Amino acid sequence: MEPLAFISDIHGNLEALDRVLKLVDSLGIDNVYCLGDLVGYGPNPGECIELTIERCSGIVAGNHDWAVVGKTPLEDFNPVARTAIHWTMKRLSWHQLRLLKALPLTLSLDSLFLVHSSPLMPHQWLYIMDEFSASLALERRPEKVILVGHTHVPQAYREKGEKVETISFPFKLEKDARYLVNVGSVGQPRDGDPRACCVVMEEGEVRLERIPYPVQETARKIKERGLPSILAYRIQEGW
Ligand code: ZN
Repeated sequence: MEPLAFISDIHGNLEALDRVLKLVDSLGIDNVYCLGDLVGYGPNPGECIELTIERCSGIVAGNHDWAVVGKTPLEDFNPVARTAIHWTMKRLSWHQLRLLKALPLTLSLDSLFLVHSSPLMPHQWLYIMDEFSASLALERRPEKVILVGHTHVPQAYREKGEKVETISFPFKLEKDARYLVNVGSVGQPRDGDPRACCVVMEEGEVRLERIPYPVQETARKIKERGLPSILAYRIQEGW
């Protein structure tokens, strides 16, 4: 199988997206898939939509993408997220909004299944945070590997026989096992590490890459462009 890269939760952070794609290019990986949330929180939503669509072989919609085009209710978001969604709506062109609107909710690619939140009612945007919710998600789909984003925390689960357990990166894909992999976030990691994140699948191995980017630059733009300043603060801390 050719090498693949998976990115998610870019959230309008162009500096982070740019560094991640440069790394992917330097690894000679042609096919990149995106697990949604191209916009929301960050200062460059339009550029991130265009760059992601240009570079990625497949993209699924995230809850922020849907919110910006009126496909999911804004009441479901906290006040800061809602403010950023309103801010984003005003800054996208008609063409960029059309691109977001057209994103599918899920993608099935042979042995892989891609969805932003969970294969369990994807439009409800459930969070997979533990082995139990991972096992429910794995039950839903026949594919060998389910790839998700949404929590902004990279995480992997392995199902072997009846048992689903948390495993750490990197890991080898075993013949008699299935997996659920959260690829973390490009633009707003929440695992205490502010570096951008992506997952690479190569020669039967799945690994996590952490990529430093000029986070101060993104933080400065968030403040200058009138987004809530807490969004500038959190990306520097990784929460
Ligand atoms: Zn997100």
